[in-house]
Amino acid sequence: MNSHTADDHRSLPRCAFAWCVTPHGDTVHPADEDHRSEGAGFTIRTRDAGDHGAGTVHDVEIGVLRRQDDDATWIVVEAGGCSSFAVHVDDAGEIGRRLIVESRRARSTDGPGAEVMAP
Ligand SMILES: [Zn+2]
Repeated sequence: MNSHTADDHRSLPRCAFAWCVTPHGDTVHPADEDHRSEGAGFTIRTRDAGDHGAGTVHDVEIGVLRRQDDDATWIVVEAGGCSSFAVHVDDAGEIGRRLIVESRRARSTDGPGAEVMAP
């Protein structure tokens, strides 16, 4: 993802996607013309199932992506380099709600087996 915003390129044609911050027509590589939103950064941990310990910490960025050859919009989590995964925009809301439920469960002081209220 890049750090450009639509306001940085007021003279460029406006993209059809209101969330897109790609400076269309002002990019270096054709692949840079993909539609991207501003990203939000987070730190995550990955660990193989058989591993022990703290795992590996990664800085990731979450945003909206619609590549030029896509017929759908994706919520993408990019871990730098060529590593990423994407969730279809129609599934992202349910995943977000589930993350809230699991966050509440993890913070629960009622102990194992406590009921978790839906958001
Ligand atoms: Zn765009």
